[in-house]
Amino acid sequence: YGSSSHKTDYVFKVVLIGDSAVGKSQILSRFSRNEFSLDSKATIGVEFQTRTMLIQNKSVKAQIWDTAGQERYRAVTSAYYRGAVGAMLVYDITKRQTFDHIPRWLEELRAHADKNIVIILIGNKTDLEDQRAVWTEDAKEFAEKEGLFFLETSALEATYVEEAFVTVLTEIFNIVN
Ligand code: GDP
Ligand code: MG
Repeated sequence: YGSSSHKTDYVFKVVLIGDSAVGKSQILSRFSRNEFSLDSKATIGVEFQTRTMLIQNKSVKAQIWDTAGQERYRAVTSAYYRGAVGAMLVYDITKRQTFDHIPRWLEELRAHADKNIVIILIGNKTDLEDQRAVWTEDAKEFAEKEGLFFLETSALEATYVEEAFVTVLTEIFNIVN
């Protein structure tokens, strides 16, 4: 039997949130299609992408939701968060403001999502190390204080993107099993 005929054991909805232009859509594109675009247009309409992975021999379909340019404060609707069991909270390591807005996104998430949602904080664009404006230690400390997983990624170089998703999906898997 090919993997396509294998039944899906689990479907996990995971939402991407964070300020505009931090790289959410490119992180998703890297994870779901192993593609990256340097001049990505603002996301239009596409609601989610899926990728199926094996976790402890079970077939887990990750359904990853991307904001359709609704990153303005409070513009993301509660329908977006509904049923989500995981969230990826993304900032850009070269734009301090995108990190300063993380507590807001967290507040929004905690107001709308399930209280047991698994959250990972992601500092994206590590390929731009020479423009870094957010120290790894500051983000790590914040994540620990808030009980979030934390990784720094580069969607461009495909660094730690896979690990970020695997971290979230495995934790969700362990919670439901
Ligand atoms: P979104 O608004 O959060 O969905 O951000 P996008 O995914 O559309 O990315 C915004 C811009 O940042 C685009 O020009 C991307 O090509 C660029 N970008 C995204 N991820 C990376 C990355 O890891 N490194 C670099 N250098 N640029 C990135
Ligand atoms: Mg986008």
